[in-house]
Parts: sequence; C-alpha cells; structure tokens
Amino acid sequence: MGSNPTPSAMSAPVSDDPFDPADVDTMRLALDEARAALAHHDVPVGAVIVHDGVVVAARHNEREHANDPVAHAEVLALRDAAVHLGQWRLDECTMYVTLEPCAMCAGAMVNARLGWLVYGATDPKAGAVDSVFRLLDGDRLNHRVECSSGLLEAESAEVLRAFFRARR
Ligand SMILES: [Zn+2]
Repeated sequence: MGSNPTPSAMSAPVSDDPFDPADVDTMRLALDEARAALAHHDVPVGAVIVHDGVVVAARHNEREHANDPVAHAEVLALRDAAVHLGQWRLDECTMYVTLEPCAMCAGAMVNARLGWLVYGATDPKAGAVDSVFRLLDGDRLNHRVECSSGLLEAESAEVLRAFFRARR
C-alpha cells in the first residue's frame, strides 16, 4: 500500500475507539468491583471515580448486602469521592461504571455536578443516559455530565449475563 492516505481515509476517524489505556485500566478496576458484588449475591455492577488521575472511590452494588434500595455502586462511589475530596461538587471527577446508570444514579450524578461519565454496557430496560431516558444531556438542567459509552462493553455485559444465568 502507498504511504499517502486517500482523501476518504483522511476524513475517516483515526480510530473508532475514543478511549486510552488509562481508561481501560480504570474500567478494569470497575469490573473487579462488579465481580466483588457476587460474593453477596448482588447484581454485579461496579463504579470507580478518578480525580486528577487518582482513584478516589471504588464501589459495587450493595443493595442486597445492605438491604438498601439506593445502595447502587454509583451512589456509594459518589458519596465516597465527596468524603475523600472534602466537597460534594465533583465537577473535576470522572466516573467509570460497568453498566449504564439508572434514573436514580444519573440524577445523583447531576446533583454531584459530576464532570464526566464513562460506562460499559447499555441497559435497555432501565438505562437513563441513552436507552430509556436521556437524563444527562437535558437542555433544562443547569449541569451537564459529559458521557462516553462502550468501554469494555462486552466484558461488562458478560459479568451481568453470567449472574442472571446462574440465578435461573
Ligand atoms: Zn442506579
């Protein structure tokens, strides 16, 4: 092949993968968290929050474990990050979560003024970022969370599929 790219090649995206190795490493931590939820029979979802390149929170779903309807990984991680940073406003933080957040968690992210969200698998039944609702890009909100999706999507989905398969 010649070394001169054709105009169509030049206008094509450099890569359809917008994530860098640090993103992948962090999502792997979130996947480890998701798997930790299996020890107490919770739906395996994990969330990690990064601030200035440092992990400030890593949690998994504890709804069954804590008998707490709001103990989703994302809510727990937001709380930990706020305590760690000494402020509830998390506009300089990025959350990595293995599954598309539900309406409660997306709402919590807006209230935390979260800067960025990266999620793995989509949730066609309850996802509130792209699938069922689109709560993070509403023009009516005074805060908008920037979002990317699809990072380690297959692995994130497989952890969930295996969990529900085993329960049947
Ligand atoms: Zn949730």
